[in-house]
Amino acid sequence: MHPREHSDLRRRGRGLWADTAESDWDDWNWQLRNRITTLAELESRMSLTREEREGCLFAKDRLALAITPYFFNLIDRENPDCPIRRQVIPRVEESYVNAGESTDPVGEEHTMPVPGLVHRYPDRVLFLATDRCAAYCRYCTRSRLVSNARHYDFHPDYERALRYIGEHPEVRDVLISGGDPLLLSDAKLDHLLGRLRAIPHVEFIRIGTRMPVFAPQRVTPGLCEVLKKHGPVWMSLHVNHPDECTGELFEACERLAFSGTPLGNQSVLLKGVNDDAAVMKRLVQRLLMMRVRPYYLYACDLISGSAHLRAPVEKGVEIIRALRGHTSGYAVPQFVIDAPGGGGKVPVNPEYVDMASLDADLVRMTNFEGREFVYPAR
Ligand SMILES: *Cc1c(COP(=O)(O)O)cnc(C)c1O
Repeated sequence: MHPREHSDLRRRGRGLWADTAESDWDDWNWQLRNRITTLAELESRMSLTREEREGCLFAKDRLALAITPYFFNLIDRENPDCPIRRQVIPRVEESYVNAGESTDPVGEEHTMPVPGLVHRYPDRVLFLATDRCAAYCRYCTRSRLVSNARHYDFHPDYERALRYIGEHPEVRDVLISGGDPLLLSDAKLDHLLGRLRAIPHVEFIRIGTRMPVFAPQRVTPGLCEVLKKHGPVWMSLHVNHPDECTGELFEACERLAFSGTPLGNQSVLLKGVNDDAAVMKRLVQRLLMMRVRPYYLYACDLISGSAHLRAPVEKGVEIIRALRGHTSGYAVPQFVIDAPGGGGKVPVNPEYVDMASLDADLVRMTNFEGREFVYPAR
């Protein structure tokens, strides 16, 4: 069956916004203008739990509340444990700061040679193009600077960042993220991509975005033209749960893929959202149907107020074990922990090979079914 006809990937349509003109609904600027951003707007659409109501009151001082109408429709409003709901509706637990947590968990502030440019790895940089997103993930690792709730006063300096990249010939890879770079207009993206492409040593450009998940309407023919013009531009999406894989997202991914944009996905392992092997298996299989290659599964960073969303590391290993060999190899992401303080991404893998046996005659290993095998060590 073609994935387009698959019942799991059906279009959701306007849902609660049935009275809205289709042309408005399909306009990403309408989606942004009509975001739910206040407790009153949220309560006019659904009933909240006490924990959520208190969380909304606190959100303005931590990380703003914002949910696009499209994404709001994916919430099961009758289910307080809905995995979509947990990702975007604030909870009172966000106000609790636990041991080890911080507002800059992966130490980005010390590795910014220029405001908005993080240079941690030898050959690549993270270019923070904006401090805004279409909607705010409650476990955001950059909640210190996005949404302006904490008055961070983020001013990415594109000219200085571009000059830095130009003066550092070792930078061959630029990851444009933020905030969400797809909030920039097509003209601004065209300009930024053009400037990066003009730097001779920049070989690889990618965009990290959740915009197609929050507002697939953003993936317009105009955007695709810009990506095609400067391509190959790779794109990492951020899909956490199979319910986010809608017909609308499928079509957006199709437009992106047809513009020559290779697609990857980064998920965050979240308690009550996707900390379950069966859920993750459905997610990664749907991603493949949408031409999206699962790239990373992140342990949730130690961001202040995220304890209620963090799952044990063991759970991530268990999920990888449940995927490897049991489903398409293309569907298996790399599980990583972004080391607190700025150590970078560290892979965390289930053990299949007895590493001590590499020094012996025979490498001892266990396959996905738990059966044991040997292979000559040399
Ligand atoms: C994740 C990240 C990158 C990209 O890392 P890859 O493993 O190449 O995807 C680059 N810079 C920073 C600061 C990052 O956090």
